[in-house]
Amino acid sequence: MHTWTMSIFLDSVQTVGYGGQAVNPGNSLEDELSYDSRIHTISAREPEEMRMSQQEAPPEPAAGGRVAGDAAVSGIRLTSVTLPLPVPVSDAKVLTGRQRPMTEVVFLFAEVAAGDQHGIGFSYSKRAGGRAQYAHAAEVAQTALGQDASDIGRIHTSLLWAGASVGRSGAATQAIAAIDIALWDLKARRAGLPLAKLLGAYRDSVRTYDTSGGFLHADLAAITARADESLAAGIGGIKIKVGHPDSRVDLDRVAAVRDHLGEHVPLMVDANQQWDRATAARIGRVLDRYGLEWIEEPLDAYDATGHARLAQRLDTPIATGEMLTSVAEHYELIRHQAADIIQPDAPRVGGITPFLQLATLADHSGVDLAPHFAMEIHIHLAAAYPRETWVEHFDWLNPLFQHRMETRDGRMVVPTRPGLGLAPTDQARRWVTDTIGFGSIGTPLR
Ligand SMILES: [Mg+2]
Repeated sequence: MHTWTMSIFLDSVQTVGYGGQAVNPGNSLEDELSYDSRIHTISAREPEEMRMSQQEAPPEPAAGGRVAGDAAVSGIRLTSVTLPLPVPVSDAKVLTGRQRPMTEVVFLFAEVAAGDQHGIGFSYSKRAGGRAQYAHAAEVAQTALGQDASDIGRIHTSLLWAGASVGRSGAATQAIAAIDIALWDLKARRAGLPLAKLLGAYRDSVRTYDTSGGFLHADLAAITARADESLAAGIGGIKIKVGHPDSRVDLDRVAAVRDHLGEHVPLMVDANQQWDRATAARIGRVLDRYGLEWIEEPLDAYDATGHARLAQRLDTPIATGEMLTSVAEHYELIRHQAADIIQPDAPRVGGITPFLQLATLADHSGVDLAPHFAMEIHIHLAAAYPRETWVEHFDWLNPLFQHRMETRDGRMVVPTRPGLGLAPTDQARRWVTDTIGFGSIGTPLR
């Protein structure tokens, strides 16, 4: 019989925004007691006893790898957390009308237990997709139960094939990513090592740049003030968004920020895919004057040929890859020599297992690597990449975790805590919207 116990997130009775105001208030009693048995989703607004539910036994193993005792995956818990952002965020995709301003980020947390040891990982979605990730993960998670927790490649493959009908990219792999990342966290915790050390680090800190302050909704005064704060806090570079419908606005902002920072502070720009090839070439030639570290996502994320042509024409390095959701998609960039810097995102490509595969491809192709978002995970992966690289500093996730990333002398320091070093906050528990468990998940993770 498989049972599951209290989640680290289950203290929550309702989702709460900044300042304590309710985000989802006013549900009826029927809503609060709702239980969707089709996908086994249990609302976090339910009384605790309603959540202490037994799950059906996992299916019989279809392949090898099943082990007994503490080596086996004995429990998995999935939790959906909605993080509200302090202010609506806009990049070029909003100014060109393709997306609405972002007001929240939905996280899929996975906790994996093997005996009395635990790992935690997460995936995420911006705007739509969080429900799909959660539902898919809930459908395939039981596949991992009973498998050797050390055999992460084998588990990843079995999870992938369990849901392969809906593809080996996109929301399906992002659902698996949370479990894969939790398994790597578990493995490093069991070894008593930070994940970077388990993987084999090349350095104890990584160059880091700030993105949070450079969005298009921020005016120039706010951007420069924030840049000053970031540099004073030990962050080494500044990235600002471009891709405004009137490119003269972009060029004025870049010129002003470069003038403010001086010529020696690394500065990047990010167009979030909003230029066509001709526009990117025209603006890129002007941007070459400013000694930028890179131009990010100048073109559509899937235009490998266009990126390759642009990279040949411009002096400024080209960076892209954050929107891609598989090794196969990244391989298209690498084999077309589309970018000087690829920007994979472990939660988006399916976890740390596929990230390491594409990192090997990138290194042997002479490509630099600057992971996108999720610095809490990527600091470890960037430290384990052979070439000196950058990690993106975003402060958005700070309310979710107890520990702050340390920055000094332009670099982010690899945490020395075992695993990823993640410990969710009480506030994160209050933002839980759904949770479900499989097997025996044991003692809450702290
Ligand atoms: Mg970007």
